[in-house]
Amino acid sequence: MLVSLCLLGGVLSLIPKPSDTYASVTPVPLQPPPHSVESEISQPVSSAKQIALPSPSLQQDSKSPNILPDLRKWDVEVTVRSGDSLSVIFKRLGLSRSVSALLRLGAATKPLHRLHPGQVLHIQRDDQGLRHLMFRPTRSRETHYWRIPGGTYTIGHTDLPVEHRRRAVTGTINHTLFEAGDDAGLSPSMILELARIFGWDIDFALEIRKGDRFKLIWDEQWIQGQHAENGPILAAEFVNRGQTYQALRYIGKDGRADYYTPDGQHLRKQFLRTPVDFTRISSHFNPRRLHPVLKRVRPHRGVDYAAPTGTPVYAAGDGTVIRRGWKGGYGRVIFIQHGTRYTTVYAHLSRYARGLKVGSKVTQGQIIGRIGRSGMATGPHLHYEFRIDGVHRNPVKVRFPSLDPLRYAELADFRQQTWPMLIALRMPYNLRMAYADVQ
Ligand SMILES: [Zn+2]
Repeated sequence: MLVSLCLLGGVLSLIPKPSDTYASVTPVPLQPPPHSVESEISQPVSSAKQIALPSPSLQQDSKSPNILPDLRKWDVEVTVRSGDSLSVIFKRLGLSRSVSALLRLGAATKPLHRLHPGQVLHIQRDDQGLRHLMFRPTRSRETHYWRIPGGTYTIGHTDLPVEHRRRAVTGTINHTLFEAGDDAGLSPSMILELARIFGWDIDFALEIRKGDRFKLIWDEQWIQGQHAENGPILAAEFVNRGQTYQALRYIGKDGRADYYTPDGQHLRKQFLRTPVDFTRISSHFNPRRLHPVLKRVRPHRGVDYAAPTGTPVYAAGDGTVIRRGWKGGYGRVIFIQHGTRYTTVYAHLSRYARGLKVGSKVTQGQIIGRIGRSGMATGPHLHYEFRIDGVHRNPVKVRFPSLDPLRYAELADFRQQTWPMLIALRMPYNLRMAYADVQ
């Protein structure tokens, strides 16, 4: 009931009013449909369908004459299944004849060609076929197609307001970080994100001890009263073997979000220690190795990471692709140049990231290709090399250069933006899941 009352104001303000924008359209009355607003909201609010109403901010994309779509009352709601396309779905619904008229909108129908399983098409129909179609190409956008006089269609969209809520949680490790994170109610991707933030200083495979603790504050996104997505971690603390590490998220002047210590030092280094997730080293850097294929001593000037074919491979640092192609025993290989001194090499790939070519700029952590077994390889793995001034170095042991700390000019802005988070990190360790009282 509370929901209905809250909605009443919204509903009333959503009833379309004639305005300049629509003044050119006279023949079609802009009025709510026959069913009254009262009756609609007095129904039990059991799902988002019934409370979804057109927003006044509907953006008109087309220049063609138009009318506002009616308040929604969907005749049918179809969940897209795998293998479905617009024409398949419309055929099923007996709406085939509306497809060609709809597709005459051309480029505006692009989102309809990219339907994916789970998406829901909301459809209003009448004896002429499709009257109004709405679906969400993204969680926060509604795209509408509706019929206008003359039998053609027009398009518009509504961006739904996204509400941000700050959440906070603490956890203590008994066995593994994943168990502790799960106990605290964190999703696997959030746990992974936490490990990524502190992975520069803590080896999560080897250095985690019983009693290690963490605190986490993150942004949660809600759309129309429903949890939509977990946003980024805004602040975190990890106590590893008695030592406390803190991370604050800050978007710098260049627009790039990064994690910093409270005094403005970068947590990340110029290079990732491993350019793949969750793998084991299958062959170490070894100048005197007996080669598994050639069966003779041949130095192994890189590190091999065994992982299934298709596992993503990340650029270890910001740089430029200087080679991308087949090279003898390397198979499909990518060379990235980082500044003047550093080069990284990624070999035996099954494929390259789409669009990646010589000259492409890449950023640290960007997916550049997938693990494979191309070239001289006994099984799927990444052969990774790290070269300084052309000399091969052991990427597992080499000391990576630090990134420059925030400059004085940015530091004031950093402090101003992050201090509420820093204070919020003082929450006690016995806190379970909560909404953090920070803005
Ligand atoms: Zn190798």
